[in-house]
Amino acid sequence: MPIYEYLCAVCAHEFEKLVRRDAAPSCPACGAAGVERRFSLPNVSSQTTKGKAMRAAKQRDQKQATDRVQAQIAYERSHDD
Ligand SMILES: [Zn+2]
Repeated sequence: MPIYEYLCAVCAHEFEKLVRRDAAPSCPACGAAGVERRFSLPNVSSQTTKGKAMRAAKQRDQKQATDRVQAQIAYERSHDD
């Protein structure tokens, strides 16, 4: 059975649930039946994916910052006289 991620349209509670095909679960927080299926991520939680994306973005920013500093140093060196 796949794990699906749901978002409750009533209280905005997010949850993951193992469901049978085409079965619509109800919200565990408020009991509403009007939940929307978001996407399935087999073996990977949305938290992990988000964390990886954040780390990748941070590393990219750090690299850009380093590139800027090195460009500045190169500029100063070439205009030393
Ligand atoms: Zn709810």
